[in-house]
Amino acid sequence: MVAILSHGARVGALLFSASVLLGACRKEDPIAPDPLPDTEQPVLPIPGRDDNMALGNPSAAITSVLTPENYLMVKPQYALAYQNSRGTARWVSWHLSTSWKGSAERCDCFSGDDALPFGFFQAVTQDYTNTGFNRGHLCPSDDRDGSDADNEVTFLMTNVMPQAPILNQVTWGNLEDYARSLIYDGYEVYTVAGGYGAGGTGSNGGTTTTIAFGNITVPSRYWKVLVILEEGEDDINRISSNTRVIAVDMPNTQTVNASPWGAYRTTVDAIEDSTGLDLLSLVPAAIQSALESAVDDGPTQ
Ligand code: MN
Ligand code: MN
Repeated sequence: MVAILSHGARVGALLFSASVLLGACRKEDPIAPDPLPDTEQPVLPIPGRDDNMALGNPSAAITSVLTPENYLMVKPQYALAYQNSRGTARWVSWHLSTSWKGSAERCDCFSGDDALPFGFFQAVTQDYTNTGFNRGHLCPSDDRDGSDADNEVTFLMTNVMPQAPILNQVTWGNLEDYARSLIYDGYEVYTVAGGYGAGGTGSNGGTTTTIAFGNITVPSRYWKVLVILEEGEDDINRISSNTRVIAVDMPNTQTVNASPWGAYRTTVDAIEDSTGLDLLSLVPAAIQSALESAVDDGPTQ
């Protein structure tokens, strides 16, 4: 997206110079209309990068300051619903295919999300310092390295939640690695993820329910739902009751790695019950209920 924008900016600059030159040489002739300002250049879709919310809006979130508990934020790289009272997202949703991948360096540039409305709590990276919890990405940095700009957006604190280091770096991380491995086997993946409950155990021990002076809730559980399709077009209409769906629900603790990620598989229905969300809501009802009631038993590596 940003690559296209900067390409658009370059095209705009070229058109502008061309029109200035033409105007200078042939004042009497009508010339091409002035190019659109950069901000109005059409943004072309990048093939293979699909709608991050193609499978639905799990909480019917809207972008209104009147709904601080369910505030929709749509970015080119992912979409989320922010919950102000928890200081984090309720869910983050994103599409992954090889088209999102590139060679940008991990920027490690955690920063507050200025797109939050005035008056909403805005986490900063220091809120996590010495808490015993990692700044855990929901949409992973490694899923968005097509450009520096794409990668930087994953470090916005609205895409981050407090995760026990072992969860973040081992069990959750292993599932992220598995999902990425699938795109090199000819698949594309839709993911929705979040946390629920309050009270995790980080590297300081004990149970921590909030950090940042109560402004950020530490989830007790982390969940993720992945829908895996062979790479192709018109994805929502290709989902069938045979589509592979992986749902996991993991404790936010330092002992989560006692079992591999596959042991935390559950049903989408169970996650919907625990979170109050409606996942995969754009999938036709009969297929949705079939997919949501099954526990994946496919390979885990
Ligand atoms: Mn597709
Ligand atoms: Mn559902």
